[in-house]
Amino acid sequence: HGETVDWQALIRDVPDFPKPGIVFKDITPMLADGPAFSAAISEMAALVGPDVDAVVGIESRGFIFGAALAQKLGLGLVTVRKPGKLPADIHSVEYELEYGVDRLEIHRDALSHGHRVVIVDDLLATGGTANATVELVQKLGAEVDCCLFAIELAFLNGRASLDGVEVKSLLRCD
Ligand code: IMP
Repeated sequence: HGETVDWQALIRDVPDFPKPGIVFKDITPMLADGPAFSAAISEMAALVGPDVDAVVGIESRGFIFGAALAQKLGLGLVTVRKPGKLPADIHSVEYELEYGVDRLEIHRDALSHGHRVVIVDDLLATGGTANATVELVQKLGAEVDCCLFAIELAFLNGRASLDGVEVKSLLRCD
């Protein structure tokens, strides 16, 4: 109806998840609401530059936003996955967690030199996950138009770890 849908009101704070002291931003009520989910995807689509060739979604919640956004923009979806999920030849990047390390992978033939992509995830926290994804995209010779998030936890300063990359988000939480 052309009215603004307040999808941000459907993001739920869950205290002490996944551990004491952490307030988890739960997007599932928003995803479950048709008009709200649609409004969020429309707002994200409006932030994507004109010369983008593909959407890169980060497992798992980045797939939800990435797939919807790719459809809306008429683009393909490239999946960046947790270790051991992609069947063909891969590149792999290790990144630091609070305790220990984790890894993300991409198919070597998923992108090539000169491709321009938007990297999508639900939420930016410290930026470790997105930064590893930027590295994977660049290993394939592709360029990053921007990293795009529904939510940004501004107090964790993830933007700082994504130095030199444009970062866009719809909802900034302090
Ligand atoms: P980062 O690597 O510290 O930026 O963490 C971002 C990743 O952790 C993203 O893939 C998010 O899906 C996930 N994440 C961290 N905190 C939250 C949260 O509060 N809600 C939903 N996802 C979160």
